[in-house]
Amino acid sequence: MNMAEPISRPSALRGTLRLNEPMARHVSWRTGGPAARAYAPLDSEDLAAFLASLPVNEPVCFVGLGSNLLVRDGGLRGTVVLMHDPAGAMRAEGELIYADASTASPKVARFAATQGLEGSEFLAGVPGTVGGALAMNAGCYGSETWDVVARVRTVSRAGRITERGRDEFETGYRHVELRGAKLGEDEWFVAAWFRFRPGDQSAARKRIKDLLARRLETQPLDLPNAGSVFRNPPGDHAARLIEAAGLKGREIGGARISEKHANFIVNPKGRASAADIEALIALARDTVAKRFGIDLVPEVRIVGEAA
Ligand SMILES: Cc1cc2nc3c(=O)[nH]c(=O)nc-3n(C[C@H](O)[C@H](O)[C@H](O)COP(=O)(O)OP(=O)(O)OC[C@H]3O[C@@H](n4cnc5c(N)ncnc54)[C@H](O)[C@@H]3O)c2cc1C
Repeated sequence: MNMAEPISRPSALRGTLRLNEPMARHVSWRTGGPAARAYAPLDSEDLAAFLASLPVNEPVCFVGLGSNLLVRDGGLRGTVVLMHDPAGAMRAEGELIYADASTASPKVARFAATQGLEGSEFLAGVPGTVGGALAMNAGCYGSETWDVVARVRTVSRAGRITERGRDEFETGYRHVELRGAKLGEDEWFVAAWFRFRPGDQSAARKRIKDLLARRLETQPLDLPNAGSVFRNPPGDHAARLIEAAGLKGREIGGARISEKHANFIVNPKGRASAADIEALIALARDTVAKRFGIDLVPEVRIVGEAA
């Protein structure tokens, strides 16, 4: 099936445009249908020019490392912007650390540690991009991304690049809103400046090492997954509830609720469909609601069309 209708591509654009791009290549669950169009921009100016060239109603979905994303098997009708760039810029600027949104978050944690800064360590355990961490307010071990943001740079659908202070955003647990604009529909992140506290390089490095060791012990990192599937409900843990509901190890098609961590769904043989994963998500949600009267809210974002 060819979902992609041609969209004229201004010749000045320098990035790469692909049609019917399999999204399984771009998400950590390693499954999902194709994107009608996928654009990998060369830099933020190129990205701005690309967005401005799109029809106004074109659905746009930014994808970083796809570590929090389930793309349904029928794929995405609109345009995906592929934001992960292994060569994404990162540097110290005075007291701040600058990073392109396309840079992997763990790189920022390690770089900040080498600069003798502390407070970035939690980002070492979040295997996405800076843009994804900003969009999700990703966090762990008591820290969240927006705790350490000084300011950000965004791009709008019209191709306007703007610097914004953190006071322009409303943030909470895995929740970020830009006042006066639709984040993720009309405006996206292209860069961030982080403020970490001066500290001790070896202490920061040790904390990163300990945190990663703890994750290896408790999370099924050897199998395709997307981290925690559900948010933790107030005062409880989604993993505890799913385990208490007797769902550890439960399989649908090729997808399984991890035996190691019940809030993770894994794709052990790489054969799970997105529908298998979504069915397990629904099963966990229904079972926990019936057993404990608690409505688990998915943390992973589910996009695209059913097959
Ligand atoms: C093993 C594992 C462990 C994890 N542990 C944690 C954890 O401890 N804490 C935690 O919070 N999360 C965790 N996650 C989830 C995930 O890594 C984070 O949510 C991460 O920040 C997502 O980044 P990404 O680049 O992969 O975003 P994606 O999955 O690509 O996208 C997530 C959302 O962000 C949007 N987005 C992406 N880039 C941009 C951008 N530039 N501008 C605007 N919107 C954008 C997307 O459209 C989508 O809605 C884990 C995942 C895995 C696989």
